[in-house]
Amino acid sequence: MTDEHADEVRDAGSRDFGSQVHGGAGDFGRWSPAAYGFETLAIHAGQDPDAATGAVVVPIYQTSTYVQSGVGEHRGYEYSRSGNPTRTALETCLAALEGGRTGLAFASGLAAEDCLLRTVARPGGHVVVPDDAYGGTYRLFAQVLQRWGVEHTSVPLGDVAAVRAALRPETVLVWCETPTNPLLGVADIAALAQVAHEGGARLVVDNTFASPYLQQPLALGADVVVHSTTKYLGGHSDVVGGALVCGDPGLGEELAYHQNAMGGVPGPFDSWLVLRGAKTLGVRMDRHCANARRVVELLQASPAVAQVLYPGLPAHPGHDVATKQMTDFGGMVSLRLAGGEGAALELCRRTQVFTLGESLGGVESLIEHPGRMTHASVAGSPLEVPPDLVRLSVGIETAADLLADLEQALRPLPAA
Ligand code: PLP
Repeated sequence: MTDEHADEVRDAGSRDFGSQVHGGAGDFGRWSPAAYGFETLAIHAGQDPDAATGAVVVPIYQTSTYVQSGVGEHRGYEYSRSGNPTRTALETCLAALEGGRTGLAFASGLAAEDCLLRTVARPGGHVVVPDDAYGGTYRLFAQVLQRWGVEHTSVPLGDVAAVRAALRPETVLVWCETPTNPLLGVADIAALAQVAHEGGARLVVDNTFASPYLQQPLALGADVVVHSTTKYLGGHSDVVGGALVCGDPGLGEELAYHQNAMGGVPGPFDSWLVLRGAKTLGVRMDRHCANARRVVELLQASPAVAQVLYPGLPAHPGHDVATKQMTDFGGMVSLRLAGGEGAALELCRRTQVFTLGESLGGVESLIEHPGRMTHASVAGSPLEVPPDLVRLSVGIETAADLLADLEQALRPLPAA
């Protein structure tokens, strides 16, 4: 064992999380989540004016290291993989917004997922995953973790009995994504938390599509929330990031330890971009939701559209659950074209305000063909998506412009 390795091992045993987990331990200062509303926390939690200069906005601490006044004597920061003040501000804000104690930021959503999985699962462990999870999440289970001896079973999460039946003594985690990407499936978080806990497992909820503004999984019984902050939290399609938030301080310490040990952290500028985006999450989500409702109305009236997938529709199988656990239905809408895959590809080619591109949750409207784009990695797997499917991320542009764009793109489409 080299000296460096010896240090790491010693670190594992003696780590002072109080100084290292800067966003953790429920340290919200005067911005207690119990005392303030969501939008106030988004703007202020973790974001007090800079003590040194009075800067109202959290500075971008673009530094990798920090001066020590003596060996081992520092002001809480030693090295920017283990902690950086801009990242701390973001992590504190994320914890406040999700109603958790520990918030941890990562370089991407998948880095956050990987950290969680390698913290809670061991070789021989087992995870229950949704049969319509985000393709990249499924790839992590099927192509990466399986090789390290972590088994998974994919089940329809809307079927709580199927989840219960899939649990094994070695199940460590039930993975929930709601609403799902790209089929907009809805799972009952409170029911899944109960089933997971009865089986001795934890429940994680990927809250990327809803955002903490519309859905609060920890309050519904989930143990961990995961985010691709690339999406609604960042909100401007200018940064890739991820996050974990949990309520249990012990789990928070373990996750923070692995965050540092694995090193998939965001840089200060990326942290700052997500933090700035999060400030306006509430007003943006209100507009995303309102515009999505208008888009759904238009799609439902179009003969070119065979089916609209959107949890706000009373006919959606998850509508009642979504109504119970979300404050609104979000800005994501998927549709299946009556004209099949050709029509789906043509629609993607024709829109002009909806930009053809991957990702979602930004201010600008995006359109994509999941089968050939975001979910190409699950082709041939149980998670393969229908070829006639198109996914819309409805942005916050003028609603009339979005409707006009879709109207011209949908008429007339080639027959199947
Ligand atoms: N979870 C969901 C629901 C996603 O849509 C994505 C990405 O699209 C991820 C996780 C992974 O996040 P990232 O692309 O930031 O790694």
